Amino acid sequence: MIPLIDLKKQFASIHQEMKDAIIQVLESGNYILGPKVSELEKEIAKRLGVKHAIAVGNGTDALVLTLEAFGIGQGDEVITTPFTFFATSEAITRVGATPVFVDIDPKTFLLDANKLQEKITSKTKAIIPVHLFGLPADMDEIQSIANKHNLVVIEDAAQAFGAVYKEKAVGSIGDAGCFSFFPTKNLGTVGDGGMITTSNDTVAQTIRRLRVHGSKKKYYHTEPGYNSRLDEIHAAILLVCLREIDHWNERRNAIADYYSLRLKETNGIELPMRMSDRSHVYHLYCIKSSNREEFITLLKNASIQTGIYYPLCLHLQDANKTLGYRHGDFPIAESVSKEVFAIPMHPFLSKEDQNKIIKIIKRASDQL
Ligand SMILES: *Cc1c(COP(=O)(O)O)cnc(C)c1O
Repeated sequence: MIPLIDLKKQFASIHQEMKDAIIQVLESGNYILGPKVSELEKEIAKRLGVKHAIAVGNGTDALVLTLEAFGIGQGDEVITTPFTFFATSEAITRVGATPVFVDIDPKTFLLDANKLQEKITSKTKAIIPVHLFGLPADMDEIQSIANKHNLVVIEDAAQAFGAVYKEKAVGSIGDAGCFSFFPTKNLGTVGDGGMITTSNDTVAQTIRRLRVHGSKKKYYHTEPGYNSRLDEIHAAILLVCLREIDHWNERRNAIADYYSLRLKETNGIELPMRMSDRSHVYHLYCIKSSNREEFITLLKNASIQTGIYYPLCLHLQDANKTLGYRHGDFPIAESVSKEVFAIPMHPFLSKEDQNKIIKIIKRASDQL
């Protein structure tokens, strides 16, 4: 089987460094929010060029704590895309606010900034653009609308660590950026983890309190918060992975380029977009086809794994029923959700496996 992603191979490539880092933590006596977490926060803040990076328990909490730190809650509306992982809208609902969706662009699968303006009401407080599959959202257009209406911009960068938009790192463009270190993300650990990046001092301070039960001084609580902290073991592992991430992202790009070159004249499929003003980190390589089932079946018969990200748009999820959306409300997102499929993509995918995947896709196309 050629898997979509091969975490065993990824971590085997840094096995000894990880082992040393883990043993160092074991022997240190510090296990949660200790020196490794501080070091990781400093390195990420420096890399992105922001004043603060605050580690939390996972990417979903990163979004929840950020929304709350900006004072967003009951009665507020937050605009985002219906074509993303559920956590994006879940975080909005969690703080008591209402997710408002905007349809996507059919080629980039990103929130369509041209349709943003019409969704803004007196209740709108924030926009959460998602850098989906590793491709940065249209930040200039989004930011200019946000500035005009005095809205907070929170980048959901869970799938895009290291991606760059017009020379700015994602996570450093909006008012805050949220990252996930879930194992399958392009920068991930062997468990859960998340990070918030911001240059807003007040918001950073609030998040630092919120992640430890709303306390600045131990056992003195200014507000009810959360227990959302990063473990030292994960920070230590992430520090090792951070040294590899540019190389891993380059490998993903090389693989994507090879796929796109070899598949470019294949009938019945549309390949992922590359844009000249931003980089892509190919968290996923997603192909669009109205014959998705045929491609998936042939690939499966050839022992090649595929994945569907995402089969059901967020406005149609049972969990979002009370929002009152219906089929047809976001036709582009709905049609894309029926047509996209991801093929294997990870930094350690061999040329031989890539060639096999390409061969099967071309064969499937010939049979259409
Ligand atoms: C993974 C992901 C999240 C949530 O991150 P977790 O660490 O799994 O909580 C949020 N948004 C997007 C777009 C994601 O891909």
